Amino acid sequence: MSKFNNPKGFLGNERIVGALFHGINTGRLANTLLLTGPAGSGKKTLAAHLTQKLFCPDLCQRCANCTMLARGIHPDYLLITSDGMVKLDQARQLKEFLSASPNTATYKVAVLEDCQNLTVEAGNSLLKILEDPPPASVCILTADSADNVLLTLVSRSQVYALAPLSKEVISCVLEEHKVPEHRAWFLAGFSQGVLGSALKLLEDKDFWLRRQQMATEIQEILAQRRDPLLSSDNWQAQPKEALDLLESWLRDMLMSQINPAYIPVNKDLQSNLDESMVHCPEDKSLALLDYCALVRERLQARCNPRLVFDCLALKMWEV
Ligand SMILES: [Zn+2]
Repeated sequence: MSKFNNPKGFLGNERIVGALFHGINTGRLANTLLLTGPAGSGKKTLAAHLTQKLFCPDLCQRCANCTMLARGIHPDYLLITSDGMVKLDQARQLKEFLSASPNTATYKVAVLEDCQNLTVEAGNSLLKILEDPPPASVCILTADSADNVLLTLVSRSQVYALAPLSKEVISCVLEEHKVPEHRAWFLAGFSQGVLGSALKLLEDKDFWLRRQQMATEIQEILAQRRDPLLSSDNWQAQPKEALDLLESWLRDMLMSQINPAYIPVNKDLQSNLDESMVHCPEDKSLALLDYCALVRERLQARCNPRLVFDCLALKMWEV
């Protein structure tokens, strides 16, 4: 795919991929793996690569195992995804699947996604099979962070935390998707090393308009030319994106103010940034960035988004 593509066909995290593939080649892969990282960091892709390698060490793409896997009909492979909580019946399904012997492959492979959402009941029901796994079984668990998974499950797994990719790798992949250089630069910085979220934004046709609108609103509130409460009304409708965009803007302002050689993530909107900095000195940029962290906590604690954003917008407007 690109010069950063490692030999195992997975971008970045070479040491983790190398260790896991080595485990497969030498027959010493742990029975239970826990892959962690934020949404879009490649957990699902890596689990798919591992399954492929377990089913066909040569990754030939032609044998019965490869073909059935590619068509999503391999009888020795089970993927359990969930939109909400991962419940007891799904845990039972997984246990039953892993307990049977493989059909055509050497292993049974089950992937259980979003283990941060396992109910305690479901998690507990998995303990026994993970403690004493059937020999020809591999269970791949994924989660956003090991801190959010039941400790008893973590202690029975080999944990691999996927690291964010460098800006360079993400820019390079985006340029292969024919993304203009200034947009690739922004997405690489804004996605904070998570390729999946950069690619998702690429598909969102209105994103660039919303981002331009957000930049204009920030600039005008800081210059006291816009009613802050009108903007907070817009922002609370898409709280996460608004906060991410605002933080990236404030970080660019602060970094530019303390380091003249810094290249902003939002460099394509340099003139808007410049005007924002005229009205917002370094100490205010820093205070607002700190305040954004507080806003994030309050949103997570389910405070009223309307009130939270009103306070934020007023803080920006105040001199
Ligand atoms: Zn094959």
